[in-house]
Amino acid sequence: MRKLVRIVSITIIAVIVACFGGCAQSPSQTSGVQRMYVFNCGESTVSDMSRWTPGVNIGKPGEFSANCYLIQHARGWLMFDSGINDNVATMPKGFQRGKDSPRYILRKPLRVQLSEIGVDPAQVTHVAFSHTHGDHVGNGNLFSKATLHIQQAEYDIAFGSAAVSKWNFEVTSYDKLRANPIVKLNGDHDVFGDGTVRLISTPGHTPGHQSLFVRLPQRGPVILTGDMVHLQDNWVNRRVPAFNFNREQSLQSMEKIAALMKATGAQLWINHDKTQSDQIPKAPAYLQ
Ligand SMILES: [Zn+2]
Repeated sequence: MRKLVRIVSITIIAVIVACFGGCAQSPSQTSGVQRMYVFNCGESTVSDMSRWTPGVNIGKPGEFSANCYLIQHARGWLMFDSGINDNVATMPKGFQRGKDSPRYILRKPLRVQLSEIGVDPAQVTHVAFSHTHGDHVGNGNLFSKATLHIQQAEYDIAFGSAAVSKWNFEVTSYDKLRANPIVKLNGDHDVFGDGTVRLISTPGHTPGHQSLFVRLPQRGPVILTGDMVHLQDNWVNRRVPAFNFNREQSLQSMEKIAALMKATGAQLWINHDKTQSDQIPKAPAYLQ
């Protein structure tokens, strides 16, 4: 009995001590994803889909979606990918870099879409890109106050001396982030420390490509692919575009994501698959 009294009083003291850290907030207010916005951050049209689907769709035109995602977590805001550059919205025929490049189209600038949900880019505390291609980092410079989370291998090429000459990156879309706080990663990373938002290293498309696992409070877990895979049909058939940086790594990353889906029950949300993207509610609606 005496022992029990001692245990109870120790427990009470422990609770009182812990409360100095902030008992005013319940656990549900200090952890977990609150909502996720998906933005239409552009579309692109291509004249020959087979560049993305080796062996099939030869000579067939196609269309890709380009989403960006804003996750509101109890401990901050994470922007994942930033879409096609906002200036493209002023170009009636869109923007095409070279004769065989995809033609980018943007209906509404990301900056405007953010203001419509009452978010100033300066409020965004964390920013991460799946990789450094133009339709993912197009508005990177908007997020001047955010901590950049980037794989070391991607950092080295994005901010290295060959970013333009070798990699063809549109550096002026994201170069200001060099001055932001930067967290360089070598693998998976739990962004807010509670397991609900995790960057998953998925190299192959580029050397430091990453995908994002998000545990939505009601819908459950989803994986935002970036360009780990471009289309549902490529996923099913494990097809790798010929222009990927490393084919073997690309296939390994697909298997890694398949295992994660099996372990967590996560759905795969494929960024560029327009048929699938059209089914996902876009901002100002949000997902929980
Ligand atoms: Zn890409």
